[in-house]
Amino acid sequence: MNSNNLSPRLKIVASLVPKGSKIADIGSDHAYLAINLIKNEIAISAIAGEVAAGPLSNSKEEIEKNDATKQIEARLGDGLAVIQDTDAIDVICIAVMGGQLIRKILNDGKTKLSNVKKLILQPNVGEAELRDWLINNGFKITYEDIVAEDHHLYEIIVAEPGEMNLSEKEQMFGPMLMKSHNDVYTHKWQRELKRLRKIEENLKAHPHHGQAKLDQVTKQINYIKEMFEYVS
Ligand code: SAM
Repeated sequence: MNSNNLSPRLKIVASLVPKGSKIADIGSDHAYLAINLIKNEIAISAIAGEVAAGPLSNSKEEIEKNDATKQIEARLGDGLAVIQDTDAIDVICIAVMGGQLIRKILNDGKTKLSNVKKLILQPNVGEAELRDWLINNGFKITYEDIVAEDHHLYEIIVAEPGEMNLSEKEQMFGPMLMKSHNDVYTHKWQRELKRLRKIEENLKAHPHHGQAKLDQVTKQINYIKEMFEYVS
């Protein structure tokens, strides 16, 4: 992958950024996304935020190599702390982190979200917790997708300021993914069902882990089975 040739999952993220945006890509690593959006004249400016020195230095190198230092600034910092009011960021992208980490980044940086029009998030696990945070913090989900890449599955969740209620099942399966389920989605939940059944078996064989844990896993298994019945 490079900034001219984004991986399939990052291509989807890029395609969701509105033209003329001022973006912050948090956890930018090589800043491929930001550079791609600037070179294709989608974003007009970008902050490439990184918490780690190594990836930050990768970002800086790529930005210089692509002659994009006027439009993109690579900044070292934790989550949204790299965003300043004067950046007037309207789109935040956070790709390939756990849903819980994305949730923490958004929660810790709440004050930086007041003027943001779009969050484009790509969690690799923990999607339900992330949806839960979004709907309880003034965001509605406007688009969802799922993509497979190198044996990993990535959901994409786009959120905008607004109100939304979601049931426990909708938080788990994604309100939009549930409706437009595709082969990748089916594969994800078949795999998850298999994983949970193994855990259930193990918990039944070792009751000292507690009934509450077993009940939770059984509930999730039943939700998945119901979802498959509903979509078939
Ligand atoms: N976003 C890129 C992509 O999609 O290819 C890179 C994903 S990489 C798996 C995650 C990156 O997030 C790492 O470079 C890591 O250093 C950075 N990261 C992790 N926690 C962070 C935080 N709290 N704030 C900023 N960056 C963070």
